[in-house]
Amino acid sequence: MAIERITDVSMHQDDVVEQQIEVTLRPKLFEDYIGQERLKSNLKLAIDAAKKRSEPIDHVLLYGPPGLGKTTMATVIANEMGANIRITAGSAIERAGDLASILTNLTDGDVLFIDEIHRLGRAVEEVLYSAMEDFKLDIMIGKGPAARSVRLDLPKFTVIGATTRTGALAAPLRDRFGIIHRLEFYSHSEISRIIERASNILESKIEKDAADMLSTRARLTPRIANRLLKRVRDYADVNGDGLIDVPTATAALKLLEVDELGLDPGDRNLIISIIDNYGSNPVGLSTISALTGDETATIEDFYEPYLLQIGFIERTPRGRRVTPRAYAHVNREYSL
Ligand code: ADP
Repeated sequence: MAIERITDVSMHQDDVVEQQIEVTLRPKLFEDYIGQERLKSNLKLAIDAAKKRSEPIDHVLLYGPPGLGKTTMATVIANEMGANIRITAGSAIERAGDLASILTNLTDGDVLFIDEIHRLGRAVEEVLYSAMEDFKLDIMIGKGPAARSVRLDLPKFTVIGATTRTGALAAPLRDRFGIIHRLEFYSHSEISRIIERASNILESKIEKDAADMLSTRARLTPRIANRLLKRVRDYADVNGDGLIDVPTATAALKLLEVDELGLDPGDRNLIISIIDNYGSNPVGLSTISALTGDETATIEDFYEPYLLQIGFIERTPRGRRVTPRAYAHVNREYSL
């Protein structure tokens, strides 16, 4: 389904203005990066140690739902190391040759950020993990009987991989990462701080209780918090004097159909479809996909993590089950 969801956690790549705003809002250093305290302290230690030894930091794998700050953290790491960052994505590196040309263009200390690293093909993965292991690249030159393998030295670089699913990564590749961390959902107060920081940067005025209110509807996710803020700011500019207070934010969110838990019509439709067709019985992912018309990957990456986090669905060995709490939210009578 091609409906644009305000709570969509993916980036709207085609929107140039959105992308520019995204860049200005992105924290550059640890001190601007709100939350994820455990991850930050682990990384700070690794960075200090690497700097002391004048070496690049170990390869880092960041995983967790989209929009929680994996790309941002990769740029923070590069900035804190004083390193250049090259950004690419698993789906953009189709052949081993594509990866070879990226790798041979790096210089010592560079950070190579690979988003959606689980999307790399097997052949590319293999080249990558040997490059990560000993900074060498084996390539074949020529064809047929004259073909020979050549081993090239690569600069000492750091791979930062991001994925929504570690399970989809081949074990040998996963094992090449010295630092593996899961990004957690943020607390309401952290999201509220992220909203206040973003509104400062965007030079828009938001009252503290309006920021707190928005923070409860942002699905505990910075990308959604920033997106809600931008839409609410538009509403305040058009319908008032630009000040975002609770009544303005409430009216804007009503228009956006984002409810008090941050659920949009897509989430509510998913819950109601399961309840109406299967009640509280467990259902498989492909069944949910058939009910809502969304791809299974969309359900797994975009809908499910937050619904699990707030206890609206639970995973059982036989599938996903809607909980009594979700029934209450969509005004349905719970029955076993
Ligand atoms: P991911 O790579 O996990 O999908 P991003 O790093 O692209 O997520 O984060 C999305 C946006 O959310 C960023 O552009 C940034 O503005 C904001 N953001 C993410 N994490 C933080 C944070 N810890 N503090 C402040 N803003 C953040």
